[in-house]
Amino acid sequence: MTQELIEQIGVQRLRGVGPQLSQKLEKMGITTVQDLLFHLPLRYVDKTKISPIGGVQTFTSAVIEGHIKASDVVFGRRRSLVCRLQDHSGTITLRFFHFNRAQQQALQPGARLRCFGEVRRGQSGAELYHPEYQLIDGASPPTLEKTLTPVYPMSDGLAQTRIRTLCQQALDYLDNSQIRELLPRSMGVDYSLTAALQLLHRPPLETPLNLLAEGEHPAQQRLAFEELTAHHLSLLRLRQRIQRQPAPQLRFDKQEHQRFLAQLGFTLTDAQARVSRDISRDLDSTVPMLRLVQGDVGSGKTVVAALAAIQAIVNDQQAALMAPTEILSDQHRTNFENWFRPLGIRVAWLTGKLKGKARAIQLQAIADGSAQMVIGTHALFQDSVEFCRLGLTIIDEQHRFGVHQRLALRKKGSRSDLATTSSDHLPHQLIMTATPIPRTLAMSAYADLDNSIIDELPPGRTPVETLVIADLRRNDVIQRVRQACLDGRQTYWVCTLIEESDTLEAQAAEITASELQLVLPELRVALVHGRLKAGEKLDIMQRFKAGEINLLVATTVIEVGVDVPNASLMIIENAERLGLSQLHQLRGRVGRGSQRSHCVLLYSPPLSRQGSERIRTMRETNDGFKIAEKDLQLRGPGEVLGTRQTGDMQLRVADLQRDGHMLEAVKQCANSILHKHPENVDALIDRWLGNSDQYAQA
Ligand code: ADP
Ligand code: MG
Repeated sequence: MTQELIEQIGVQRLRGVGPQLSQKLEKMGITTVQDLLFHLPLRYVDKTKISPIGGVQTFTSAVIEGHIKASDVVFGRRRSLVCRLQDHSGTITLRFFHFNRAQQQALQPGARLRCFGEVRRGQSGAELYHPEYQLIDGASPPTLEKTLTPVYPMSDGLAQTRIRTLCQQALDYLDNSQIRELLPRSMGVDYSLTAALQLLHRPPLETPLNLLAEGEHPAQQRLAFEELTAHHLSLLRLRQRIQRQPAPQLRFDKQEHQRFLAQLGFTLTDAQARVSRDISRDLDSTVPMLRLVQGDVGSGKTVVAALAAIQAIVNDQQAALMAPTEILSDQHRTNFENWFRPLGIRVAWLTGKLKGKARAIQLQAIADGSAQMVIGTHALFQDSVEFCRLGLTIIDEQHRFGVHQRLALRKKGSRSDLATTSSDHLPHQLIMTATPIPRTLAMSAYADLDNSIIDELPPGRTPVETLVIADLRRNDVIQRVRQACLDGRQTYWVCTLIEESDTLEAQAAEITASELQLVLPELRVALVHGRLKAGEKLDIMQRFKAGEINLLVATTVIEVGVDVPNASLMIIENAERLGLSQLHQLRGRVGRGSQRSHCVLLYSPPLSRQGSERIRTMRETNDGFKIAEKDLQLRGPGEVLGTRQTGDMQLRVADLQRDGHMLEAVKQCANSILHKHPENVDALIDRWLGNSDQYAQA
């Protein structure tokens, strides 16, 4: 007789599951017995032995047993029922804020009680709040648990005990039905799936609790490996789907390539040339390119993007470059116009602020194909924008956009192509980021992308020297700024606020700007912030670039991409409030020319532990990758990438930081399944990501 597959047994088959409960379970994504088995405990408590009251420790959970010595209703800030429970070793307080008359009558002096709860430090020393309890009468005491007790993730309207019994029933099915091993036998699997699930839902007494708590138990590691593999497969599958659609093949044109380089005024670094070759090879194929270029701030990604655009344009395709801010897109426009005009390439520009006739003209040029290079903000990818024949999209500073936005852009090309007579082509896609993505994260959140790294700065740069100064010495700093500016160095003064409010931040910057102008009358001070009109912002940036402004007071709007090589001094106020990657981005605005640059981190003492770690890291290194790893360590992956970027990657057992070491093996395993056992791919993704497969819709 063949065994039933556990993934095909509906939860309705379990005892006590009626229509109502099965609806609740469905809301939690649980429809089969397999789903229940993969609904894993968050933690465990030990109810296998009775602890002496005198020996219990705060913040641990314990089973205790004793006599009630005293019982009173106490009227404090909140009315509560307070019992003193005693055994041979000591006494402890039980406190109930919610209780009924029956409870009050049962919990009288002399009653014998077994309790379980977490020990807290309360008004009267050790206390248990609302412990689970059983009255013991007669000769046969209640039995103790034989295994550690799992605690499951909470869910509305489903009691812990309920979910516990359901999972225990689900475990019984493991004996008689079949759960499919979906990982190849050779792949890091020294624990059978059945054994791992049994252990995690019903850990035997001798299971080391500390390993379980850390997620380091081999059974957990076994599942974490499988879970990461499922996520990885989901991204690979997405990639496969995209790459099934053809892209236009873009031939490399050596002549145009060299014509562009000849007028640049510098030669590419080896790293730029290498990455550019990677891209060029990708473009010369009908498989859509999906490539991420990581390069630290100032490593020269823009030129690499321009070379890619040329390859598209000489093949009679349009290239689009999207930047996250107006300032940055304007800077790109200036660069590309300077570079491309001599080559006879027409550049269009589209941002959200462009309105009316000017906008209509640009839209027309994009639609009829007379604009070959199109530069803009997210406005580029609104519905009203139709490309004539988009062959390449370039996304700059990818970290500002989410995974979903990135995926949405892919569709742009195919839809606009549909609107024209050409076939159903996808554009190639190039993604650039200066926020180095820690290697571990890059492999998981970006598994669908090929990766190139520009790991070299153009020659002649001197590393930025970072100084850390308490804001008590702000006046000294201002005097240094005066001297620097008088010596011809341009300076940024960056204001930061904790609140994520544009308006407040702008106000703070305004105040700082007028104050600085007041004490530095001999300098030309200007102000740029997010509340200015786009035109004003751009005008100020252009004047700063032209050297007409000595001191630019700015909010963090200048964080991304701005390139003014003559600016060599930056002051960041309240630097302790910013995250590491943001500080690194900001600091990257200086150190772009050949003169020595300085970055002053002003902070208001006292610093928190994290704050001082961050500032110390900034002082010690300029290496974006080291900073990113540190950031990951301090904040965790969700924060580093932003939930938008992790695609809300909800992991059940795995932890990217703890299990990062597995990722290389995970990648191999996923690839091997994809090629040797494609029949397992959907089952694995379904098991771990279920309906919530966040990449499926993309
Ligand atoms: P990022 O990688 O931060 O986007 P940019 O593309 O803005 O860097 O380049 C930073 C500056 O370095 C620009 O002024 C650019 O013209 C210059 N640059 C880029 N590549 C080179 C090179 N190979 N040699 C000298 N300067 C370069
Ligand atoms: Mg850039």
